[in-house]
Amino acid sequence: MEEIKINRIIRLSKSCLGKEEKNAVMGVLDREYLGMGKEVQQFEKDLIEFFNRQVVCVANGTAALHLALQAVGISQGDEVLVQSLTYVASFQAISATGAMPVACDIRPDTLTIDLHDAEKRLTEKTKAIMPVHYSGGVGDLDGIYSFAEKHHLRVIEDAAHAFGTIYKRNKVGSFGDIACFSFDGIKNITSGEGGCIVTNDKDVIRLAQDLRLLGVEKDTEQRYSGGRSWSFNVKEQGWRYHMSNIMAAIGIEQLKRINEFTDKRKLLAKCYDELLNPVGDIECLMQNYDEVVPHIYVVKLGKGYDREKTRKDLNKVGIQTGIHYQPNHWLDIYRKDILPLIKVDEIYPRLLSLPLHPDLEIEDVRRVVDCLINSVVNNNEETVCS
Ligand SMILES: *Cc1c(COP(=O)(O)O)cnc(C)c1O
Repeated sequence: MEEIKINRIIRLSKSCLGKEEKNAVMGVLDREYLGMGKEVQQFEKDLIEFFNRQVVCVANGTAALHLALQAVGISQGDEVLVQSLTYVASFQAISATGAMPVACDIRPDTLTIDLHDAEKRLTEKTKAIMPVHYSGGVGDLDGIYSFAEKHHLRVIEDAAHAFGTIYKRNKVGSFGDIACFSFDGIKNITSGEGGCIVTNDKDVIRLAQDLRLLGVEKDTEQRYSGGRSWSFNVKEQGWRYHMSNIMAAIGIEQLKRINEFTDKRKLLAKCYDELLNPVGDIECLMQNYDEVVPHIYVVKLGKGYDREKTRKDLNKVGIQTGIHYQPNHWLDIYRKDILPLIKVDEIYPRLLSLPLHPDLEIEDVRRVVDCLINSVVNNNEETVCS
């Protein structure tokens, strides 16, 4: 018995798929129309209802960011402000347009962009800001929009972590300039791979619809009525970024389960907070989980702790951990002569992500916390935990 308990791996994150998703995929396979057609159109309709805004579905979250940037005219010679502490996808989406991602520092409480630091990095080339909703929290989003207005910047929200999050009574994506979501396998809802652009800007919607299909004008309408354009015009460089019916079929079923997923994520994060808050030397993020849907659960270890030892201790007993994320200004492609990023450099080595996904149970959270505390308390010794 003991053996089985120890050997049960507690995964850092995972997809949560049921019978409905599997049946929906089989339905698409049976109909033998796998590309972009009626399921994608339906998923878009469902998302439009969810956000009460226009939506364009694409192949992944990175593609959503790339197309949104291109659709507002970001290109070679432009600069986009973005926090260094994010997945490399945010940076790559910006540099894919030819523009330069300008790495900014973070606020220690929410690990979102620090506007005081961002202000120092403004130039006449700065055209947009990409706030990253780290772990699902949005930081001072009102402040970000005021900053953007003051400096005449477009706002492309990297909301890959924040599907379902509420900010001042409104869903992230249902207000503001442009929000981009990811439906990658481990995100809050999944369509296998996938992503979407949400905005009220009709020009952005029209352009993104064309650009996802190699720039072929109005091909979207054709595909939604079961055809495709045979004679057409192309005015701009496009990409093969459309979503397939197989993906959309999964997404449609996952969206129906959004409340189940978000309630569970919130419950588990609250449980982590409750168990960890009294522990000195383990710091939780400042989030209100009545509103924020946590995509990842991140803690900051005390200064000087050996994070790798703790990761090994947990891994030995079948508990996976992660690190979100290695700063982007450390990468060769983005490393530049810039003002130092003091907080990112100080906080990054202390970050540790604990398991979080809807199939986790409270007793798993307790076990993770017990083992974590055990490892941190005995950080300089051999640790045993069951
Ligand atoms: C997942 C993710 C993306 C990109 O989404 P994909 O669907 O994987 O392309 C972008 N930004 C952040 C912060 C993410 O976590």
